[in-house]
Amino acid sequence: MPAAVIDECSGDPGLCWDRSRGHRLRTAVIHLHKEHCSAGISPRAYSLWCVSSVLFLVHAVMIGDAVFTVVQLINLVATSVITILVKRYGRHVCLTHLQAWTSATEG
Ligand SMILES: [Zn+2]
Repeated sequence: MPAAVIDECSGDPGLCWDRSRGHRLRTAVIHLHKEHCSAGISPRAYSLWCVSSVLFLVHAVMIGDAVFTVVQLINLVATSVITILVKRYGRHVCLTHLQAWTSATEG
């Protein structure tokens, strides 16, 4: 687990990581939907993440863990939405990310 994630919260590192991950997912979905920008998002990585979410969901259902099942359902929906949006807006980049990329490559 990255140290920066643990430093953001004063509570349990596991819960902190989940909150941070949830925030990143929500931010990615909102940015994709509003700006049609897929900068920094790998369709392959999110497709793999969807597959792993399905496998974890099946496992959660098989062991009968209600909380784990709900978390995996939320995770699967979020990653599926991101994967669909990334495929839809594949090579679109917003002006902010384009300027950041341009200044990084020039300097
Ligand atoms: Zn962007």
